[in-house]
Amino acid sequence: MYDVLILGAGPAGLGAAIYGIRAGFKLAVIDQSPVSGGQVLNTYEVDNYLGLPMISGGDISDKFREHADKLGVEFITAQVTGIETGKEPENIKTVKTDNGDYEAKALILATGAEHMHLGVKGENELSGMGVSYCATCDGAFFRKRTVAVVGGGDVAVEDAIFLAGICRRVYLIHRRDKLRAADILQKKLMSLENVEIIWDSEVKEIKGSDVVEGVELFNKKSNECSSLEVNGVFIAVGVKPVTEMFKGLVEMNEGGYIIAGEDCCTSAEGIYVAGDIRKKPMRQIITAVADGANAINSLQNALMRG
Ligand code: NDP
Repeated sequence: MYDVLILGAGPAGLGAAIYGIRAGFKLAVIDQSPVSGGQVLNTYEVDNYLGLPMISGGDISDKFREHADKLGVEFITAQVTGIETGKEPENIKTVKTDNGDYEAKALILATGAEHMHLGVKGENELSGMGVSYCATCDGAFFRKRTVAVVGGGDVAVEDAIFLAGICRRVYLIHRRDKLRAADILQKKLMSLENVEIIWDSEVKEIKGSDVVEGVELFNKKSNECSSLEVNGVFIAVGVKPVTEMFKGLVEMNEGGYIIAGEDCCTSAEGIYVAGDIRKKPMRQIITAVADGANAINSLQNALMRG
């Protein structure tokens, strides 16, 4: 029996673990992957986490995990399949996994988000054959070749910058005439000679018989279609929360984000939420870590109130 089980080993889960263990809770972190970090692992470079400028996603994840290990946090590698609550006498929560059941008095949900799909012809068919959702994982396969990145947020621009260092040419395809990414990233992108931004354009199809050979584009302003020859397509069109298994357990909005304020208290007693799955205006590593700390603080306050 644990005091608290933390579901997810990204920055939110690890932030909660560090604050939780220092508060004296018997806790464990459950994640489907033995490698901690979540989405950050797919990030080429992080330059907005206080005190760790220009650090790679892999290195910052390692540092978070080393910190947790040093404090003696227990990690369980398992896929969560469901949650049951209400076991008396203390409303014990049972976390069901493919590796057995685990019980706790409280839960912190920190399962993060996963990438969205474009939903166009060729995307699924050529996935792994030139279509990728992770530039840092697959970029090296496209050395000195030509690739397209789709999207206009932080991830798309970071991916394009990363790929520009490997590939001969990088096209950034964005559906509007303005990027959503942070200004500093935009400036860096614009300074790169082998990057071209294709504005106001949607990918209508990814083409190729066995591997990606090109994309079909539609320009929303000129209403014109065009073809672009590329060897790879990196899709970075946002993320969606991994909360399917929490439906009916806690209150969520239409997008599947769990509703909770800065105190990270959900609609269910003894269940807290932290990180990208919480409904909030800013999803960053630093705000995810802060959520982890706030969730533990709320748990402590609830215990003090009895
Ligand atoms: P975002 O939601 O920020 O951006 C998604 C982009 O994809 C937008 O430009 C959007 O266009 C575009 N898009 C969405 N759907 C489609 C579609 N069907 N076809 C074409 N384009 C589409 O997602 P990101 O993955 O970039 O970032 C997710 C979150 O993670 C953000 O909050 C970001 O700030 C954060 N992040 C934090 C980092 C850090 O802390 N260091 C690093 C990287 C990301 P439009 O602009 O028109 O809506």
